[in-house]
Amino acid sequence: MRRVSIFGATGSIGQNTIDLIAREPDAYDVVALTGSSNIKQLAQDAIRLRADVAVTADEARLDDLRAALSGSDVEAAAGQAALTEAGCRPSDWVMSAIVGAAGLAPGLCALEQGATLALANKESLVCAGQLILSTAKAHDARLLPVDSEHSAVFQALVGEDMSAVERIIITASGGAFRDWPLDKLAKATLAEASSHPNWDMGQRITIDSASMFNKALELIETREYFGVRGDQIEVLVHPESMIHAMVGFNDGALMAHVGPPDMRHAIGYALNWPDRQPLPVERLDLAQIGSLTFRAPDEVRWPALRLAREVMERGGLSGAVFNAAKETALDGFIAGNINFPAMAEVVDEVLNCTDPGHIDAPMTLDNVLTADQMARQAARDVIEQRAG
Ligand code: NAD
Ligand code: MG
Repeated sequence: MRRVSIFGATGSIGQNTIDLIAREPDAYDVVALTGSSNIKQLAQDAIRLRADVAVTADEARLDDLRAALSGSDVEAAAGQAALTEAGCRPSDWVMSAIVGAAGLAPGLCALEQGATLALANKESLVCAGQLILSTAKAHDARLLPVDSEHSAVFQALVGEDMSAVERIIITASGGAFRDWPLDKLAKATLAEASSHPNWDMGQRITIDSASMFNKALELIETREYFGVRGDQIEVLVHPESMIHAMVGFNDGALMAHVGPPDMRHAIGYALNWPDRQPLPVERLDLAQIGSLTFRAPDEVRWPALRLAREVMERGGLSGAVFNAAKETALDGFIAGNINFPAMAEVVDEVLNCTDPGHIDAPMTLDNVLTADQMARQAARDVIEQRAG
């Protein structure tokens, strides 16, 4: 039996992972499930999957979790230290699906145990790509991409030599505001930004899709994961979300990965890798779909893409600053303190005002977390100044 853990089990990726694992209960021995506020879901899944431990990130909810688990053999734990401890429990395969930089420390612990880390938490690579990769290498642990674009690239590269790769194209649906008049964006509501045309995802990544901050993170994720230069990575707007990525080779060939917009494909590929197993996803009928369309991304509509390119140029800990400023600006938009276009303005301002000393510090977990905290404070200050 394979020992598996799921960090962020109550979220959209976590629930899709559980959907696949629960179909084969005899194949998996579930070690840890983690969540935060949705105690009922966490406890229900932990009992159903007979997990060793269920962890909530929210320390104040420990009693609720204990009550929800009473009568079962599942251990209850809460708080940041418990999350990290869960990451340190030996597992063979770990799904990293906490949203945001909070996923970094538990993921590093899993790698230190030599586990295969299925990485949905792209923020880890954006904040600390070299640290993640060097930790995986030092502990002979494998990192598998779960983001749909990166899983697609990974699959298109099977049997290929990276030296023959000229470019990587990641596609973007364009999100909720792809066709909105630019002057309407300042009036976009939270509900409008939280609805995605093709994918059913958590609220934060859905809003990040509308702003293209999600694609901005993915540009950096691509560079870190595949070790290519920023100028080799292109973003292509593809409203149908059927082609997830393409790899361009030095003989002019483009290998495209086509599949339904269902994260269980990328999750299942990482779960079954290096094999393929049947997955419960739709089989596409391309004749019925008829046509697929593409357009160039508009950097006026989506300034996040330009910011990501600046971050790739700058290197060091600028990814951690970028991500933390983005998370704080997103909190500001969700709370109604800034409007939709202001998110990119806040991130731009934080990047410009960051002390180079923070960005050039060595990439240790402590320095990444310090840069993260500093950027969150700077972003909160910028948001407050704008309000005042
Ligand atoms: P979600 O909001 O649906 O779920 C997030 C999970 O993280 C929940 O289990 C929540 O309890 C937990 N969590 C939230 N804050 C936490 C904290 N501070 N500490 C510990 N746990 C915390 O998010 P999601 O859409 O499932 O996305 C998860 C990750 O996967 C993100 O990094 C996202 O970018 C990435 N991703 C998601 C999709 C998708 O289709 N949803 C696709 C590609 C990549
Ligand atoms: Mg993606």
